[in-house]
Amino acid sequence: MKAIGAHVSASGGVFNAPLNAEAIGANAFALFTKNQRQWNAKPLDATTIEAFKANLARVGILPKHVLAHDSYLINLGHPEKEARQKSLEAFIDEVKRCDQLGLDKLNFHPGSHLNQLTEEACLDSIAESLNRTLELTQNVTLVIENTAGQGTNLGYKWEHLAHLIEKVEDKGRIGVCLDTCHLFTAGYDIRTSEAYAKTTKEFDSIVGFCYLKGMHFNDAKPPLGSRVDRHHSLGKGTIGLEAFWYIMNDPRMDDIPLVLETIDTALWAQEIALLRAMQGAEKPTGSQDGYVNKIR
Ligand SMILES: [Zn+2]
Ligand SMILES: [Zn+2]
Repeated sequence: MKAIGAHVSASGGVFNAPLNAEAIGANAFALFTKNQRQWNAKPLDATTIEAFKANLARVGILPKHVLAHDSYLINLGHPEKEARQKSLEAFIDEVKRCDQLGLDKLNFHPGSHLNQLTEEACLDSIAESLNRTLELTQNVTLVIENTAGQGTNLGYKWEHLAHLIEKVEDKGRIGVCLDTCHLFTAGYDIRTSEAYAKTTKEFDSIVGFCYLKGMHFNDAKPPLGSRVDRHHSLGKGTIGLEAFWYIMNDPRMDDIPLVLETIDTALWAQEIALLRAMQGAEKPTGSQDGYVNKIR
């Protein structure tokens, strides 16, 4: 079974997120549990927590199909000690918020070396932050997102993800989230059957599908290997629909949150319906409109 949704708004309170997911026909979703552009947030109160859990149960979405996302400000590999400590404290707080909400996964971007550290030293520093976080928290799996490798962001190679997992002591609480736009713009092709097989085989041998805890579904604006992170709506970018057909018909992506972060939120309900319809349907060729009409 595929769990498909989008990164929905939690504005007005986290308890609104399950309702926003239900409104677009999702059976999975991502959310920020606090304002993603601010360091501080007021603690979650008991009423908010209960309302979130009640709404989640009411819309019938399982907690394991919810992928919380951390703040964009956090850099667990920050070269400066004070800045890294600030990130670590904010990250630990985010993990605790997930735990309070009954959620078992927090998705984060590995970190950036800011041209002040080697990639390896930065990865080691991120792994140290992860180990510290795991010591001070419980229940929540830390889900590393692959990146496009824009600027000095790490996580654009399978080897980066493997390096972090290798250095994390509690392997039961570490996982990865694959973003299709990021992997494609980082240079991993998934547009044809051969390319999809090669990329997933490499991922499996270097990282391992046992660590795959979620995916972000995005088409891309820039070309393969450009290392530029710009999302597009499904079937409208440089990746195309065929790649999503491979994923929708791949049992290795069953039972994990598959989350749209595409740019036009007005299309989310349609994109979710399209992804569902792709399962067991024929492979798309040509335009998105033609395909949608054919499988309907
Ligand atoms: Zn993403
Ligand atoms: Zn992105």
